[in-house]
Amino acid sequence: MDRFEVAVIGGGIVGISTAWQLVRRGIGPVVVLEKEDELATHQTGRNSGVIHSGVYYKPGSLKATNCVAGRKALIAFCEEEDLPFDMCGKVIVATSEEEEAQLKRIFERGKTNGVRCSWLSAEELREYEPHVRGRCAVHVEDAGIADYGAVARRVGERAIELGAEVRTGHAVTGLRVDAAGVTIETQKGEVSADLVVNCGGLHSDRIARMGGVRPGLRIVPFRGHYHKLAPEAEHLCKTLIYPVPNPAYPFLGVHFTRMVRGGVECGPNALLAFAREGYRIPQVSIGDMADYLGYSGFRQIMKDHWKQGIHEFACAVSRRRYVRELQKLIPEVRKEHLLPAPSGIRAQAVLPDGSMADDFLIIERPHQIHVCNAPSPAATAGLQIGLTISERVAKAKAA
Ligand SMILES: Cc1cc2nc3c(=O)[nH]c(=O)nc-3n(C[C@H](O)[C@H](O)[C@H](O)COP(=O)(O)OP(=O)(O)OC[C@H]3O[C@@H](n4cnc5c(N)ncnc54)[C@H](O)[C@@H]3O)c2cc1C
Repeated sequence: MDRFEVAVIGGGIVGISTAWQLVRRGIGPVVVLEKEDELATHQTGRNSGVIHSGVYYKPGSLKATNCVAGRKALIAFCEEEDLPFDMCGKVIVATSEEEEAQLKRIFERGKTNGVRCSWLSAEELREYEPHVRGRCAVHVEDAGIADYGAVARRVGERAIELGAEVRTGHAVTGLRVDAAGVTIETQKGEVSADLVVNCGGLHSDRIARMGGVRPGLRIVPFRGHYHKLAPEAEHLCKTLIYPVPNPAYPFLGVHFTRMVRGGVECGPNALLAFAREGYRIPQVSIGDMADYLGYSGFRQIMKDHWKQGIHEFACAVSRRRYVRELQKLIPEVRKEHLLPAPSGIRAQAVLPDGSMADDFLIIERPHQIHVCNAPSPAATAGLQIGLTISERVAKAKAA
């Protein structure tokens, strides 16, 4: 059986960055076990491609610190590696008095987090985005766009050059932990390691449980459906156009995103998915559904948020309602401007009381580190999360 110092489960941006940061500091041998045949096929390759600034997050939270540091590391990596990115900036637009009050709080938070942002009147907003209508807005200079799939694949190449092994097509099916380390069972045989790092995204809770760890949460999958703007409507969005997030549902709210590979996408909405990797509506997994239907936290969410759920469902089935949401930001958008685009699925970590875990969550046990919650902005922050984990591994080795 092959023996490694560290085995990383998951070849999304968090797992592959962790492997790279480990081998960069001389820790090894390191292996990445990824169940798909390629890296970055799930959340990392199916997102909005936005480089988040850190404007929204609670000062001092893991999200705030890792997002700001991760953004800087990401930009430096893309520059060094000649990967496409564009710090085009974004506007967050308030369309009501209530949203204006919330936007003021976000503006203050952004400044506290060291994000470069400025307040815009309705007229000033039009200089940035002539087709957007709003009462006022915040312009965020430190936001941009990237291709996270390309970033993860390049990080993978650099990790391999430094000695990491990447085994794709290796689904992890079990973990056995004892005093000597961890035995990791995969569909293609076993490997052993001193330490396992779980970066399994949509399956991170199950992998934690394989190691006997109760993460105190469960992943509930929410599908985000996107549309592409038809070429004749692309001029309506110059950069990134976001609504003011509802503090009760900060991850909701369709936005317009200029993509780094060209074109403009709008979305995503957030609909309960019937499978953790059910990217198309008829895809159903009885096991995945049973996992959340039998969970107290999920039942509480349904009780607390059924109205919002109906709203999201109505927008998903009625293109007219979806367009009405978009028209709050750009009144000129029409139904016929929307073309289909691929969807993504968020790994939403839900706590037993029905609240949604907000901050990144990393659980450490002897011989195990589990990244149990890495939602947006974890793509922006991926390189920094990898660095943070590599520091913890180095500390554990030194102890
Ligand atoms: C719709 C959507 C929009 C988003 N927009 C943005 C954005 O604009 N900007 C931003 O910063 N963030 C965004 N995010 C969040 C971001 O994409 C994720 O937080 C980030 O990609 C998480 O990376 P990850 O490596 O943890 O997960 P993933 O990319 O999902 O990787 C996990 C990997 O683990 C593998 N795996 C799982 N189980 C096993 C197993 N048993 N054995 C082996 N391998 C396994 C999977 O195959 C997968 O490759 C968005 C997310 C979604 C879904």
